[in-house]
This record gives sequence, structure tokens and C-alpha cells, in this order.
Amino acid sequence: MTRFTSHMALALDQARAAALRGEVPVGAVVVDPAGRVVAAEGNRTRELSDPTAHAEILAIRAACRIVGSERLPGHDLWVTLEPCPMCAAAISAARIGRLYYGASDVRMGGVEHGARVFDHPQCHHRPQIYDGIDAEGARALLVGFFRDRR
Ligand SMILES: [Zn+2]
Repeated sequence: MTRFTSHMALALDQARAAALRGEVPVGAVVVDPAGRVVAAEGNRTRELSDPTAHAEILAIRAACRIVGSERLPGHDLWVTLEPCPMCAAAISAARIGRLYYGASDVRMGGVEHGARVFDHPQCHHRPQIYDGIDAEGARALLVGFFRDRR
């Protein structure tokens, strides 16, 4: 029996660290079925010159490496911002059990906005979704980041 623990604070730490690197502040954490954190990552698209280096992708890659499988059934993904369509597709492909996210993303989101990847008939795995977790904290980070860059 595992006790419910929010890992959003850790995801927000990763988002803050990303902002300090000059990256869009988004952080993601993967938790295994036993409740252990197996990966915690922030955006690194600029650092790696890689448009796919979103926090969720990096966290899923790291977790898969540790588990030794391309699938992460029973694992939870915590992310500070609504995943984009690319990340939502990766979450589905990885068979993530539960997705917890913070702020919604009207512009780039692909879960409740835009492509709505998990609602698409071609989507073969839909995680349980819990949104709006510490959304204010995640949003404040993003707003501050884009304001300071102007
Ligand atoms: Zn993404």
C-alpha cells in the first residue's frame, strides 16, 4: 500500500533549474509503481540543440533507461505544464499510468487543448489525468520567465 505523495514540488524545482539555464521553465518527474522517483528533468532544448528535449521526453527517456524497457506501466508522470502533442504521444507510447500536470497551456498544450492527443481514436493508451496541481506555481514561473526575457 503506497501513500499518496505529490511530486509537483520536485517538478517545480526542475522547472526553476531550467529557467536558470535559460530554458523555458518546465519540469517533469517520473515515479515508479513503488512510489520512488526514478527521473527528474527540466527542459534542455537550447542546451542540447534539440527541439524534442522537453522535460517530459527527457524524464521518460531516463526512466526507460533505468527500467530497461520502452514502456513504463504503473509509472506516474508529474509535469508542471500541460504536455504538448509530442510529449502526450510519448506518454501514451510509454504506457504511463497516471499523468499529473500543473498549468494548462492554451497555446501549445495537446491534452485539453489543440490536438487532444489522448482523446484521439488513434490513441491506444490514455493515462489517468489529474490537472491543475500547483497550477499557480507553474504559471508564475512561466510568466516571470517570459517577462524577464523581454
Ligand atoms: Zn512537450
